[in-house]
Amino acid sequence: MLFMTPTCNSGHWHWTPLFIWRTTKSAITSLSTILKSSLRCEMDLHEGAAHGHGEGVLDLSRLNLNTLSLVEISEERKMGTKQLYLSFNRLPSLPGSVCMFSNLEFLDISNNGLSVICEGITWLTKLRTLIAKNNRLDEFSLPKEFGSLPLEVLNLSGNRFEEMPAQFLKLQRLQSLSLGGNRLQSIPAEIENLTSLEMLYLGGNLITSIPPELANLPYLSYLVLCDNRIQGVPPQLTRLHSLRSLSLHNNLLTYLPREILSLVRLQELSLRGNPLVVRFVKEMTYDPPSLLELAGRTIKSRNVPYSSCDMPSHLLHYLDLASKCPNPKCAGVYFDSCVRHIKFVDFCGKYRLPLMHYLCSPECTSPCSSNPQSDAESEDEISVPAYRLQRVLLG
Ligand SMILES: [Zn+2]
Repeated sequence: MLFMTPTCNSGHWHWTPLFIWRTTKSAITSLSTILKSSLRCEMDLHEGAAHGHGEGVLDLSRLNLNTLSLVEISEERKMGTKQLYLSFNRLPSLPGSVCMFSNLEFLDISNNGLSVICEGITWLTKLRTLIAKNNRLDEFSLPKEFGSLPLEVLNLSGNRFEEMPAQFLKLQRLQSLSLGGNRLQSIPAEIENLTSLEMLYLGGNLITSIPPELANLPYLSYLVLCDNRIQGVPPQLTRLHSLRSLSLHNNLLTYLPREILSLVRLQELSLRGNPLVVRFVKEMTYDPPSLLELAGRTIKSRNVPYSSCDMPSHLLHYLDLASKCPNPKCAGVYFDSCVRHIKFVDFCGKYRLPLMHYLCSPECTSPCSSNPQSDAESEDEISVPAYRLQRVLLG
């Protein structure tokens, strides 16, 4: 039984739940009682919906409901409800009757054992937040038109998704997506469609790689990929200019791309629980450069002048692809042939991170010490100032 009492706050009456007394037998009866008791103050509630705080809130959580009968709720009440709490009940599916709350903006249906979300949800054309944590939802649980909802926040953590449903990738207004603790094995390249996304939480899945397309999200500030099986970070992530926090702990990373230093807004980077290499990697793979590459290197590094009349367009394009060798003691460039090389970079004077470098030739590594603990290599090394990374969590 839920008792509610009218209270007055800044001149407006609204309902405050006093306490909840749960019975397993009379779940439906209790709902009916609440609704009857609340009907008496219908007008006040409606009034409150237009003014003070807490207005338009209907809390039906923790009532052992296994169905949702709304016949006792007046049209006015339904229209006035903007936030509906149905969490911690026993609803096996989100009932179609929910669509009668046509002004609903916030719906929490967490912890129900839900395996189906009815088509009726797509009629909630003002729904901005949907929270359905800890249910039994998977990619077959959602209506086809789910992607037409104007959702800004979607939290489906603790469910059974094995892949990200195509409907999610149509939610163009989505700012926060949480799918932690599911069974996702990959992140679809179409994640780049979610151009409003600011927070992406995918911790605790089975993800093995990060698609470069993720870097096309201009507002992404918080990216949580901890507790997965990720083996590498694509260098394209450097394009995430808004990124403030990157959680990568408990994955299978052995190094990071050097480009991670370009994430100028990054303040938090968590890396504990990764097999990040602790020794300098001596083994290098290096295929001799082609004659084309050698010619291109010579033109670029010696600044030989050329114009579009001098060579066919594919060679002009090739010359544009030259990458500058990151070794500050080498003025060279490279094209396709380079040395993969892991170098430790001093972060905040406290941590040394293994970053992947690409050098133009094996000779470029000569100024470097083979011992990561040695001070000898730090002279030409980039040191990331403390203000850049306020927190680096290595364990
Ligand atoms: Zn070089």
